[in-house]
Amino acid sequence: MVRIGIDLGATNIAVGVVTDDGTILHKVEAPTLASRPWQPVVADMIALTRRALSEAGFTLDDLRSIGVGVPGTAIGGVVVFCTNLGWHDVPLERTFREAIDKPLYIDNDANVAGLAEAMAGVSAGAPNSVFLTLGTGLGGGIIINKRIYTGAHGVGGELGHLTFIADGEMCTCGKRGCLERYASATGMIRQGGEAIRTHPHSALAKAAGQDPANLTAKLIVDQARAGDPTAMMVFDRYVHYLAQGINSIISFIDPDMIVLGGGVSKAGAFLLDAVRLALTNYIFFRTLPYASIELASLGNDAGIIGAAMLGE
Ligand SMILES: [Zn+2]
Repeated sequence: MVRIGIDLGATNIAVGVVTDDGTILHKVEAPTLASRPWQPVVADMIALTRRALSEAGFTLDDLRSIGVGVPGTAIGGVVVFCTNLGWHDVPLERTFREAIDKPLYIDNDANVAGLAEAMAGVSAGAPNSVFLTLGTGLGGGIIINKRIYTGAHGVGGELGHLTFIADGEMCTCGKRGCLERYASATGMIRQGGEAIRTHPHSALAKAAGQDPANLTAKLIVDQARAGDPTAMMVFDRYVHYLAQGINSIISFIDPDMIVLGGGVSKAGAFLLDAVRLALTNYIFFRTLPYASIELASLGNDAGIIGAAMLGE
C-alpha cells in the first residue's frame, strides 16, 4: 500500500506517492494558478493524484490514504480559511471523495512540515517537537507523541500570532504585535529597511541600492555574514526576537526539540549558532536540560511527506 501526499501551495501543487515510512517514490507538480476559483484547483489536485499513482505503477487499489497540506486552516474536511488562495469554507474532503473515495486528511502546511520532520526528518528521534517556518509569515506546528496537536477546536499551534509586543506592529491577522511581525523574514526585512534609512553608508544600504524594496532576508544574512555592522545589528535583533519567541514556546510545553524551517533557515549554521547562543539569555530553568534547536532537514519535500503521513 502507498499513500498520496499533496502540498497545496499558493504557487505550485506538488503531489507525491509516498511509502508508509515516508519515502517519496514519485512526484508530479503543476502551477496552482491561485487566482482561479477553487473548483478547477481541486480538479487539478485530483488529476495529479491519478497521474502520480499511474506513473509510479500503482492503482487506486494500492492507495491507503490521501493527505493534503494547505496554507491555511482546515477543520472537519473543510478548508475554512486560506488567505493566499482566497479560499473560504471549501468542502475539500467531500469534493475529493466524490472523485476518489479514499480516506482524506487535511491540515495546515506548517503542521504538516512539522509532522514530516518528526516522522522522517531531523526530529525523528524526538517524541515531542515544535516546528517553526520562518518565511513570509511564521508558521507553527506542535507535534506531541508524533501526532499534530491543534487543540480543542483545531486552531492551536498558530505560534506566529502569539502576542509578542503589546500594541506593536500591525499584523496581517488584524491584531497588533504578533510574533510573526518580528521573527519572520518579513520582520527581518522591515527592520532592515529602518536600518538602511538610518545607516545610508552601510554595506547593506549599498547592496540594496538604498531602497528597502530590494531587501531580502538572504541579502541581510549575506551582508551580516560578510561583517557589515548594520546588517549584523539587524540580524542580531532578529535572532533575539526569535530566541524570545522560542523561550515562550519552551516555557509553555517544554518540547524535546524545536525545528527551524522556511526561507530564513537557509542561513544554516550562521542562524542556528546565533539562536542557540541568544536563547541562553532567556531560558528560565537554565540549569536543567531544555529543547535542542535544530534546522529542518527535508526541505521542500516536507510538505508532501507530512501530508502523506496524516491520519494514522
Ligand atoms: Zn497576527
